[in-house]
Parts: sequence; structure tokens; C-alpha cells
Amino acid sequence: MRCPYCESDLTRVIDTSHDTRGSVRRRRECQDCRQRFTTYERAVLSTPLVIKQDGAREEFDREKLLSGIRIACAKRPVSAAHIDRMVGEIESRLQAMGKSEVSSRVVGDMVIAGLKELDLIAYIRYAIVYLGLDDLRAIRDEINRILEA
Ligand SMILES: [Zn+2]
Repeated sequence: MRCPYCESDLTRVIDTSHDTRGSVRRRRECQDCRQRFTTYERAVLSTPLVIKQDGAREEFDREKLLSGIRIACAKRPVSAAHIDRMVGEIESRLQAMGKSEVSSRVVGDMVIAGLKELDLIAYIRYAIVYLGLDDLRAIRDEINRILEA
């Protein structure tokens, strides 16, 4: 653990305690500048790797997901906070699945479902790219489905 005051690597644990939620709190002292500071250790759920359509695996990329959704939401009445929350929820749900890998489809489906609730225009924009709605008829069918629902 690096000292937050002088960035020295020489720090010493002088006290360790546990809190009720299972976190570990350590009181440390820097051997160089003698400043004391506290660190907390807690378990963090890991996000599964995403299996892309071509079979390649990649780390879940929160920024990439955010930017794709932001583009779909451009000039729509959807706040950055809404988009952030949606991506946060997607990430939590992926972690809660407890898997080491998930298909990119699973992630895409969650975005689709989230956008459908948030803003239908943004949903259509995202769906055109994600579902590969590459002809006007398929797009019209999807819009009709929404309008009828
Ligand atoms: Zn120090």
C-alpha cells in the first residue's frame, strides 16, 4: 500500500479491525514520512467477461457501453444520470449472475430493455444498430410493434 502523503511503498500496518459488513480497516504508518492513514478492504463482485459475436472475450467495458447508449440518447430528454444509473444496474445484474462469462447478447438485451423504458426513440436508434435492423421494413415492423403495445 502506497503512502498517500509521500507515495512511499514502505508502510506498516499498526492496527487491523473488522466492521460488521465484513470490511477490514487497517491503520497504517508510513516508514518514510511517518504520516498515518487508514485503508479499507472489502470484497468486490467481479463482472463477467463478455463473449462477442465472433467468440472473442473482452472485459466488460462500462465506458464503451455508456458511449453507445449516449449516442442513442443524443438530443433526447434522457439525463446523463439516467444513463449512468441504467449502466450501473446492468453491471450489478451481470455481477449478480455470478458467471465468469456472458454473451454480449445478454448485455445488449439488458440495454434494449432499459432503453425501452427510458425513451422509445433512443430504443429504436439502439435497436437499429444492435438488432441489425438494416432495412426499412424491419425497422417499420419494430416501430409498429411498439406502437401497438
Ligand atoms: Zn509517507
